[in-house]
Amino acid sequence: MKAIVTGGAGFIGSHLVDQLLDLGMEVSVLDNFSTGRPENLSHVRDRIQLIECDISIPGKWVTEFKNAHWVFHLAALADIVPSIQNPDSYFKSNVVGTFNVLMAAKEAGVSRFVYAASSSCYGIPEHYPTPETAAISPQYPYALTKRLGEELVLHWAQLYQFPALTLRFFNVYGTRSRTSGTYGAVFGVFLAQKLAKQPLTIVGDGTQTRDFTYVTDVANAIVTAAQSDAVGEIYNVGSGKTVSVNRLVEILGGDTVHIPKRPGEPDCTFADIQKINRDLNWHPKVSIEEGVSQVLENIEYWRNAPVWTPASISEATRDWFKYLDQPQGQK
Ligand code: NAD
Repeated sequence: MKAIVTGGAGFIGSHLVDQLLDLGMEVSVLDNFSTGRPENLSHVRDRIQLIECDISIPGKWVTEFKNAHWVFHLAALADIVPSIQNPDSYFKSNVVGTFNVLMAAKEAGVSRFVYAASSSCYGIPEHYPTPETAAISPQYPYALTKRLGEELVLHWAQLYQFPALTLRFFNVYGTRSRTSGTYGAVFGVFLAQKLAKQPLTIVGDGTQTRDFTYVTDVANAIVTAAQSDAVGEIYNVGSGKTVSVNRLVEILGGDTVHIPKRPGEPDCTFADIQKINRDLNWHPKVSIEEGVSQVLENIEYWRNAPVWTPASISEATRDWFKYLDQPQGQK
């Protein structure tokens, strides 16, 4: 059986590749290395096909879909501030790219298509834990483009009975999480600060909570979804728990400093995972303590990551405050 993994050189994609190889599958990775790294696949390099290509531009890469059974579409640009500054590149990679991958997969007649959607589509949810039926309210172009890609996938499933489904990931963390130059997810920021013996920058008072989901659990949810016969469905993928940033800091240890709370961010992310529990019999396995200890065992990965300070974060998030910190009516 052959699987295509777009974005397979990235954080989640590389863990998915590991699990697909464990299942004995033939794996082709499509990636343009914009944020992904060849090193994420160095341990399996001789066991996979690695094609450097940009999925936002149709090209020779579509021939790779011939004889493919499963397609996992994870390639996307995935940061908040750059999406506000460069909505065009986000639209191309995340929406046009999804369209191109869908077309290639449909043309090849694949039997499964799994889309990596984002819980950011819920914006600031009204209900916790948040079910798949919650209102859609993207707050920034990254969230919007991921939602538009998801709409395409669901539409293809509905119109063409295309065997696709989408998984909405919540705050994924773990080894090989992105260390690109961009200010991003809390884990990478904290780990680089810890290595550099700098204070951990807590946003607001740190009581905000996140549904931190360990990356191997997410990869396992993706494989489980491919093995199911669900079509046109949306499933939340989360730990089903929510942990405060203060608790995370307590587990990681080290000095701290507080920086201003940001607009457009929920105080809590918390997935309702009853649907995926029930329909796919998928359950997360890795506790936050186990996950953090795995990450700390591999902390050297973040050695060359940018070390953020309150001043550099303030500079890097200027556009975040500029565009999102307005009363709803003025946005
Ligand atoms: P990542 O940046 O590590 O991986 C994305 C990969 O896509 C990278 O390897 C990048 O080089 C590649 N890519 C980007 N644009 C491309 C293009 N035009 N052509 C070819 N390759 C391209 O990010 P990740 O955290 O592993 O995220 C994987 C997927 O999961 C993304 O679709 C993301 O939106 C989604 N997701 C992630 C999280 C999270 O917490 N990490 C949460 C929700 C959804």
